[in-house]
Amino acid sequence: MNNLKITILGNGGCINDGLPYNSFLVNRNFLIEAPPDIMLSLKTLNRDIDLIDTIFISHLHGDHTFGLPFLIINKWMKSRQEGMRTPLTILGPNGIEPYVKKITEYAFTTANPCYEWLKQNITFSTIQSNVAMPFENLKLSCFGLRHVIKSYGFFLENRHETVFSYIADTTWCRQVEKILERRPQIVFIDMNGGESHVHISPEEVIEKGLPITQGKTTYYGMHLAEEFGHHGAHIQCGKQGEEIIIQY
Ligand SMILES: [Zn+2]
Ligand SMILES: [Zn+2]
Repeated sequence: MNNLKITILGNGGCINDGLPYNSFLVNRNFLIEAPPDIMLSLKTLNRDIDLIDTIFISHLHGDHTFGLPFLIINKWMKSRQEGMRTPLTILGPNGIEPYVKKITEYAFTTANPCYEWLKQNITFSTIQSNVAMPFENLKLSCFGLRHVIKSYGFFLENRHETVFSYIADTTWCRQVEKILERRPQIVFIDMNGGESHVHISPEEVIEKGLPITQGKTTYYGMHLAEEFGHHGAHIQCGKQGEEIIIQY
C-alpha cells in the first residue's frame, strides 16, 4: 500500500468570510495554488517552503496567484542564507511565465535580487490537457474547466483507480461529470456557490455529483464563501490544517 498525504492550507474563495484562501499540499513538495496569504498559511501549519519543488496554478486569478511573489522572495532569501539551489517548477495555464514575472516585478521591481533568482531557478511549464506526467508512482493528468477565464484541474491515477482529483474554479460542466465518472477516492471541489454562475454550488454537488459517484467518492468543499456544516456523509467542508491520507 502507498500513501498520499493531502494537507489543506486554506479553504476560502475569492470573497469569503475571513477564511484562509484556497490552497493545499500533496505530500510535502507539491503545492496547489499560491493565494495572497500563502506564506501565512504555510507558517501557521509549520510547513517548510524549502521542500516545495512544484506549484500548480489552476488559473491566473489573484486569489490563486498573488502569493507567488512572497513565496519567491522567501525562497530566494532562504537559498541565499543556506547557500543552496532550490529549483522550483511552476505549472500553470498558457501565459504563466510572463504573468509571474510581471506580478513579481510589480511587487518588488526587477532591481530586487529575487527577480534574478526567479529567472535562474524557476522552470515554467504550461498545462496541457491530455498529457500525463509522472507523480511519485502515480500519473498526473490535467483537464480544462469552465470558469470566467481558462481554468484547469488535475487527477492522480494508477492502473487500478483514480486516487484524487482537484476540481478548481468552475461552473458545473460536462468535464466535471467526466472526472466524477472515474469515482476518485477523494475530490477537492470548488463549492463557492452557484449564484454568480462562475462556481459550483453545494446543491449541484448533491443533486448531480452524488448520483454519479454513488458513495465511492468523498468530496471536500473548497474555495468557499463560508464554511458549511453538514451536507451528508460524503461531503465534507475542507478545513485548514486537515490532513487526509489516501491509501492506494
Ligand atoms: Zn478563485
Ligand atoms: Zn477564479
